[in-house]
Amino acid sequence: MKEEQIDWIRLQKALSIEAEKGFTNLQGNQYRFSEFMCLSFGQSPPFGTSLEARRKWLDLAIKFSRYPELITTQRQELVRETRQFLQELKQTLENPPEPPQPKIPKTIPVTETANNTRPLTLDQSLKSLTAVGERKGQDLVERLGLKTVKDILFYFPRDHIDYSRQVYIKNLEAGETVTLVGTVKRCNCFTSPKNTKLTIFEIVLSDPTGQIKLNRFYAGTRYNNKGWQERQKRFYPPGATIAASGLVKKSKYGVTLDNPEIEILDSSGSQIESIKIGRVLPVYPLTEGIAADLIRKTVVEALTAINQIKDPLPNDLKNIYGLISLKEAIANIHYPDNSNLLAHARRRLVFDEFFFLQLGFLQRRHKLQQNQTSASFNPRGQLIEQFNKIIPFSLTNAQKRVIQDILKDLSSSTSMNRLVQGDVGSGKTIVAVYAILAALQSGYQAALMAPTEVLAEQHYRKLVTWFNLLHLPIELLTGSTRVAKRREIHAQLDTGELPLLIGTHALIQDPVNFRKLGLVVIDEQHRFGVQQRARLLSKGESPHVLSMTATPIPRTLALTLHGDLDVSQIDELPPGRQPIQTVALTGQQRTQAYDLIRREIAQGRQAYIIFPMIEESEKLDLRAAVEEHQRLSEVIFPDFQVGLLHGRMSSAEKETALNAFRDNQTQIIVSTTVIEVGVDVPNATVMLIENAERFGLSQLHQLRGRVGRGSHQSHCLLMSSSKTTDARQRLSVLEQSQDGFFISEMDMRFRGPGQVLGTRQSGLPDFALASLVEDQEVLTLARDAAEKIMLQDPTLKYSPSLKRELDDRYQRMLGSDILN
Ligand code: ADP
Ligand code: MG
Repeated sequence: MKEEQIDWIRLQKALSIEAEKGFTNLQGNQYRFSEFMCLSFGQSPPFGTSLEARRKWLDLAIKFSRYPELITTQRQELVRETRQFLQELKQTLENPPEPPQPKIPKTIPVTETANNTRPLTLDQSLKSLTAVGERKGQDLVERLGLKTVKDILFYFPRDHIDYSRQVYIKNLEAGETVTLVGTVKRCNCFTSPKNTKLTIFEIVLSDPTGQIKLNRFYAGTRYNNKGWQERQKRFYPPGATIAASGLVKKSKYGVTLDNPEIEILDSSGSQIESIKIGRVLPVYPLTEGIAADLIRKTVVEALTAINQIKDPLPNDLKNIYGLISLKEAIANIHYPDNSNLLAHARRRLVFDEFFFLQLGFLQRRHKLQQNQTSASFNPRGQLIEQFNKIIPFSLTNAQKRVIQDILKDLSSSTSMNRLVQGDVGSGKTIVAVYAILAALQSGYQAALMAPTEVLAEQHYRKLVTWFNLLHLPIELLTGSTRVAKRREIHAQLDTGELPLLIGTHALIQDPVNFRKLGLVVIDEQHRFGVQQRARLLSKGESPHVLSMTATPIPRTLALTLHGDLDVSQIDELPPGRQPIQTVALTGQQRTQAYDLIRREIAQGRQAYIIFPMIEESEKLDLRAAVEEHQRLSEVIFPDFQVGLLHGRMSSAEKETALNAFRDNQTQIIVSTTVIEVGVDVPNATVMLIENAERFGLSQLHQLRGRVGRGSHQSHCLLMSSSKTTDARQRLSVLEQSQDGFFISEMDMRFRGPGQVLGTRQSGLPDFALASLVEDQEVLTLARDAAEKIMLQDPTLKYSPSLKRELDDRYQRMLGSDILN
């Protein structure tokens, strides 16, 4: 073995023979394997070995001196490690790294850049800041509502541009944001010969890997000025080192940076002063009349007050959930030192948004439960026993579980406030019946409110058969109830003779007085506003409330909207339901769809054909439905009876149309989405939906739920001429899944939380950072944390900082009407 040079081949060969022979520390001609390795690594490493690799090299010499003492697996590991190291080292030595880059000077920490001598306070007006002043300060108040230093610290950027990555010119990739450091070769500044309003400043920059031309554009004739242009050029003399940050753009003239930020770095040790260069730069929501740089500079100045920020979260909570301090979070959400810190900052601030909302919900629930006592109902009375005997099927396990939840709530004097989520057809009605019977057998009245007449009527129809068997009176009150009947109902409610009233909004619009209202059931609760629900509740003395919805929403949304409710899920369909065969079809495949309808009708089945109803263009859609109805009944299906149902028809007309369909006098019903909620015709087996791409997934799923209610195989045909991938992907979710919870989750991903809830329900809190789609994990943690706090300290007596922050935020939340 030669002294100076490393014999790679011999080393690798020794290692591989040792491995082949089972790590026995082979005896060679001269040395044992371990001695040979020891000697080899005892020499200096090859020229060009990095500092880190040198250390490792030496390390290996020591490790091999102990080789004889190692057990086989340890020997094996050491041999493996050595082979890998040698291979990598050889590779680097043969392909030397790129020339060292000119070092980008460290940017000044933003908290030090403001040279304000007086320390700022958090309550100080922004107008007093150097970067702001009276006039701009007024703009900030008027346009963004930002008054104080604290306000702007909590005004979070919507995005960041990462200029912190320094690259070589030869490595520029279009679409990336980068920083270049190089030497000025030459520069030029001139007004465009074609357009006197445009002045161009051109700079040619070189680094060890290449050259690039950068342009800055100045619009306006005031830059026409020769003096100004000369001065620009003098700022960047040839030979000067500069840093430039921007978005890499590729055009027919080659690669360049798009209107870059440029700063001179005269001496190599100098710091970068611009807040824009070489760092992760905040991007604030754009507001007309407010310059982006004003916000940036103001934030930089305001950050000098960062140390006065008090963290409301106790340390142990931060430790458990892995959260950084509020101070750090605020500093880094604006000007993060790196992307990792930015992620931590965001996580902490998102946590706070969720946490205080959940704490608010739980506090509110706690207070309500302290102040309100409701009647406690008997969960095991005669009516429930009788009903158990007459129901025509056995309950699913999910139904049993939810009924147990409800009866347990009702037997306590704490008001029930429970939401039952269950897919269409999961059998929510019967669950509500148990709650109603519990109220009735305890001497209380109950009310069931549904959002449409169709639905109210259907509930009535179903319940009246059961209630007749139990000899219980029951009435229906809707907008179309006759005056005489109305009076009779009012009177009977007043005396308490009538134990159960089913109805629509009429229940709250009429001067309805209950004698002893103990339970309120709200079907499709999301269709009602906060006030409407409250109005119904006020008709009793803190009655128990059971809300139901067939539009399951993702858990994040449920927690955000109903964090103070208990939620039960009926996540199981009654047995014997076959999945509905669902296919997305294009306009050209329409005849296929019609053929299927014909075949099904020939077998005695029925079909829905749905046209979208979109609020803005109600008239247009209506016309489409009416015209299509004519075409379908006269041209396509002349041999069948085709009914029509839409929102402009009177209740009597609707009722007639629905009854005709229910009785199979019409085999097809053409409808707008009024059919959506709850219509139950088990003989219908085809649901054809036109322009399906115009509906949300949850809505389509609801519509689909109109079929598959009987024992026959059912079909859902989603017609869509949209060719966009997005539309096709959305529809394929329905082709693949029948699970309402999964579908709503996907819907939220595709369309965002607001859209999923539909137009009726605004009421989502205005989170500054939190996303219900992206931050589900943090929300779950925040809920968990809030529940823990409530267990330890339900009134927050021992957590004054939490209480203060909650009150502060709670005010804001109340202002935006969510916590009602
Ligand atoms: P939704 O949850 O959509 O309101 P419904 O309560 O209207 O569902 O129930 C849908 C249909 O299923 C009704 O005809 C109902 O009588 C029936 N049903 C409910 N529970 C069961 C069950 N456990 N077994 C069989 N059929 C049931
Ligand atoms: Mg229902």
